[in-house]
Amino acid sequence: MSEPGGDDLIFDQAGQQVDLQYNAASIKVVNQIADGRGGKRCPQCSAAPMRQTAIVWEESTRRVRNGTMVLNSLASRVAPPRRPRLRHRSFRVRPYLRPFVILLALWVFTSFLSNDLFLVGATVALIAAVLWPARQYLRFRADAAADRERVAKSSTRYERDRDLWRRSWFCGACGAIVVEKAPRQRNRSSSPAARPAGNQAGGTARRRR
Ligand SMILES: [Zn+2]
Repeated sequence: MSEPGGDDLIFDQAGQQVDLQYNAASIKVVNQIADGRGGKRCPQCSAAPMRQTAIVWEESTRRVRNGTMVLNSLASRVAPPRRPRLRHRSFRVRPYLRPFVILLALWVFTSFLSNDLFLVGATVALIAAVLWPARQYLRFRADAAADRERVAKSSTRYERDRDLWRRSWFCGACGAIVVEKAPRQRNRSSSPAARPAGNQAGGTARRRR
């Protein structure tokens, strides 16, 4: 499972869809998690071993046909972040069609009567039946654009959260979720392999002055 739960719909055991709220702020970032006798030791309560959050999630859930089913209350504490989804799907013309057809028929009917007032009324109603969906469509387009923008923005955050979640450890004793800083964050300035060869000493010296 490459994207555990990120894209899935999530259901409880009764088959009801549930909305698991992922809270990135609840993940504690530490430089390193100390190894205890049995494995990684919780920085919060010293219990050991901690277990990988992703594995606890796997054990607390089951794949079902249309998504993921949570099997226990632990699942909500170790749930992965959710991939942001588009809310707007498509514009439905059908609801506007029936009033339009009815008003068109009314207009045709009144055009046979020699009553200008009725005809004017029917014409105004017919124009409204065209303008209303047009207005709704423009509104829909604006909403959809805003929605795409929202998803694009939150996708960056989602990827960062997912990365943290994948590397995090869960303490069964106190419920803490802890992640070690990524190696590149820890030795950002001390990795010789990451630098191009040549001119390096001079560049460093200049920067230090
Ligand atoms: Zn703990």
